[in-house]
Amino acid sequence: MEILFPILILSGLGIVAGLGLGIASKVFAVEVDPKVPLIRDALPGANCGGCGYAGCDAYAKAVASGEVSIDACPVGGTQTIEALSGIMGVEAETKEKEVAFVMCHGTCDKAKEQYVYEGIHDCLEAANIPGGGSKSCRYGCLGLGTCERACPFGAIDIIDGIAVINEEKCTSCGKCVVACPKALIELVPVKKKVRVMCHSEDKGKDVKQSCEVGCIGCRMCTKVCEPGAITVTNNLAHIDYSKCTQCGNCVEKCPTNAIEFI
Ligand code: SF4
Ligand code: SF4
Repeated sequence: MEILFPILILSGLGIVAGLGLGIASKVFAVEVDPKVPLIRDALPGANCGGCGYAGCDAYAKAVASGEVSIDACPVGGTQTIEALSGIMGVEAETKEKEVAFVMCHGTCDKAKEQYVYEGIHDCLEAANIPGGGSKSCRYGCLGLGTCERACPFGAIDIIDGIAVINEEKCTSCGKCVVACPKALIELVPVKKKVRVMCHSEDKGKDVKQSCEVGCIGCRMCTKVCEPGAITVTNNLAHIDYSKCTQCGNCVEKCPTNAIEFI
C-alpha cells in the first residue's frame, strides 16, 4: 500500500509532462518545406560555398523558398540542375560550363624577378610589400600558391613559378578568383580555348623589360582577327568570347606569344 501512493504521483507527473510536450511540439513546431531534404539529397554535398551560400544545406533552403535559381551550384553541373528542375517544377536552364583561367604565363625562365623573396609563403603577404611582390611585372603571378590552398577541389598546382588550372578538376566555384590578390584569375567558357595569357596594363616597353611573354599592346592581333573579337585597352588585348571563332590567327600573329591556344 505504501508504494502505491508514489507510483500514482509519478504516473500523474508523467502524464502531465507528456501532455505538456505534446502541446509544445504543436505550438512551437517549425514547418519544414518537404522540398528541402529532396533538394539537399540532389546536391553534390561539396559544401564549397561556390553557390554563394554557407553550404549545401543553406543553398537547399534558398532554392526551396525560391530565393535563388536552381543553377547556382557550380559543382553539380547539368545533372544537378535537371534534378532540381524536377523537384521545383521549373524549366531547367543550363548555362555554359566555365572554368578558372590564370591570366599569366610568366614562368620562372620568362618573367624576371626584381629580388629574392624570403618572406611568408603567401601571395597576399608578398603583394603587400613595396613593388607588389618579387616579380618585375607588378601584374604577374607570384606563384606562392594562395589560390592553390583556396581551391577545395585540388584543381590548382604551382608549376614553374605560376598557378596552373587543371580544367578536369575545376568546378568553377570561384574561390581562387576571390583569393588571388593580383586579380589574375577569371572564369571563362571552357570551350573557348584561345586566351590572352597576360594581365599587364604596362606600356609595351616596360612589359618587354620584365617578361618575355607579356602583351605589349601592339594590336597585331586585332588586325588579323576577322570577326573583330579582340580589342586592346590599357595596353592589353581582350577577347570577346561571344565573337571568337577560335581560328587561331591571333595566336600565330602575336609577337610575344601572349595569346595562346590552351
Ligand atoms: S594566381 Fe594569384 S594567388 Fe595564385 S599563385 Fe598566382 S598570385 Fe598567387
Ligand atoms: S580552380 Fe578555382 S574555380 Fe576551379 S574549383 Fe578550384 S577554386 Fe574553384
